[in-house]
Amino acid sequence: MDSYDFIVTGAGSAGCAIAGRLSEDGRFRVLLLEAGPSDWYPWIHVPLGYHKTFNNPRVNWMFDSEPEPELNNRIMYQPRGKVLGGTSSINGMVYMRGNAADYDEWRQRGCEGWDYDSVLPYFKRAEDNVRGGDDFHGTGGPLKVQDHAWQPTLARAMHDAAVEAGIPANPDFNGANQEGVGYYQTTINRSRRWSSARAYLSGAKQRKNLTIATSAHATRLLIEHGRCVGVEYRSPAGLVQARANREVIVSGGVYGSPQLLMLSGLGPAEHLKQHGIAVVRDMPGVGSHLHDHFNTYVAYRCAQPVTMNDLVLSLPRRIMAGMQYAFGRTGPLASMGLFVGALIRSDKRLERPDLQINMFAWAIRERNRAGVVPQPFSAFGLSPVHLRPDGRGTVRLKSADPTAAPEIRFNFLKSANDYQALIQGMRICREIAKQPALSLSLSRKSCPALRSPRRPISRPISAPAASPTCIRSALAAWATRSTRWSTHSCECTASNGCAWPMPRSCLQLWPATPTRPAS
Ligand SMILES: Cc1cc2nc3c(=O)[nH]c(=O)nc-3n(C[C@H](O)[C@H](O)[C@H](O)COP(=O)(O)OP(=O)(O)OC[C@H]3O[C@@H](n4cnc5c(N)ncnc54)[C@H](O)[C@@H]3O)c2cc1C
Repeated sequence: MDSYDFIVTGAGSAGCAIAGRLSEDGRFRVLLLEAGPSDWYPWIHVPLGYHKTFNNPRVNWMFDSEPEPELNNRIMYQPRGKVLGGTSSINGMVYMRGNAADYDEWRQRGCEGWDYDSVLPYFKRAEDNVRGGDDFHGTGGPLKVQDHAWQPTLARAMHDAAVEAGIPANPDFNGANQEGVGYYQTTINRSRRWSSARAYLSGAKQRKNLTIATSAHATRLLIEHGRCVGVEYRSPAGLVQARANREVIVSGGVYGSPQLLMLSGLGPAEHLKQHGIAVVRDMPGVGSHLHDHFNTYVAYRCAQPVTMNDLVLSLPRRIMAGMQYAFGRTGPLASMGLFVGALIRSDKRLERPDLQINMFAWAIRERNRAGVVPQPFSAFGLSPVHLRPDGRGTVRLKSADPTAAPEIRFNFLKSANDYQALIQGMRICREIAKQPALSLSLSRKSCPALRSPRRPISRPISAPAASPTCIRSALAAWATRSTRWSTHSCECTASNGCAWPMPRSCLQLWPATPTRPAS
């Protein structure tokens, strides 16, 4: 059996950073295990290629949630990276650390050393920010952070419209204050995705003390006398065991980590017994308290051909974009189509933002495990993301087979607060779209068509106004039906987009029909 000082299971955002840092000074022998392949797939590295990895089984686990009771029993698609770099090889590349108060809250709940003042030096050390260093940012670190090399005129219009709607401009979401509207910084370098694998492993792959094993699926932690001493994993050569003299670091992501722990006998005892797994330690917290940011969206037709949809719809534009990228590393392919965002509070009494409004230069009709289908016309989308939902879910085993997908439950929209925040987010999106900076580029069509829920989605928003109660109900119905994955602590999607008609009556919600048969 081979032995190492450290074994890291899962080469994602966290695993690459840990293995890269541990092997840096040559003192330790490190084994990094990744279930997926190396990051050879070319679309990983092109920022707009984000859409090509979204449902690609070559680089994506493509999990599904269980039917969500509050979302008409819809099954929420869960993209997660299964490739070197993990989800950092398929994500949206927005550089967003989170609110400082969130870290402080961790410390208040007992996580010593995780308050923002304690983690800030590590953020700075990780970073190589194109804007230079200051109290909040670093330079010279492995993680390249840059502004968009290219952005459409629509991005400026979105930004200015949000300011006109009363949201203060914020030049840096990762600086002194998170609240406001601003342009996102990205983990892109010279118009190429800068995944965690790129950041931490590209210089490390030659190190003699670092072994990177791809297509190596950890199946079990080896535990002796109450101590984890190694890992068993499935490789192309068969089942292999490796020993760790110092530590095993489990970094398989929000689903992979609890799954591996439970397969190894560490988890809720009753649940493990149901699957015939010998309990090493009863740990009810493993796989519990799952929560994610969730979102919906409001889509608008655009009067000018300035959106990413126009790119997809036109062969000459695609050829032009390809040439711009190939010869100048610029143009639409150099971005992921998300340039502007706003961090706001759904209720002024809150102490920190609970909503993030993502402003996309594109609008989709479907975005699920079948793929990303753009609206067949010029369109953009404003998407409110609820950052602090009440709903809590679980990750559990469906089977003791380590290659089986885990059982994922979110319990989205479980509280009145969760509904209220999302509805308020949609109201704010509509407010932003009404402002002169954006309405100049808008046609008069929106989705959902709140003013006239009886009619199809492409009705003008200038139709006779419905009552506030009606609008609220229509928004609630839309939230129920269109709420989908977001991108942060853990993920989900089941976007049944604008192609669906709105409720027949503004007080009637959709019947509870799963979008796919529940298995
Ligand atoms: C579509 C999408 C867009 C996103 N956009 C953004 C964004 O713009 N900005 C942002 O900050 N965040 C974004 N996120 C979230 C962010 O990417 C993730 O939170 C982050 O990458 C999670 O890091 P991790 O190390 O916990 O897990 P991951 O990066 O998922 O890494 C886990 C790794 O472990 C491997 N693994 C799992 N189980 C095993 C096993 N048993 N054996 C061996 N290997 C295993 C996996 O294959 C994977 O490589 C996005 C997420 C998604 C899905």
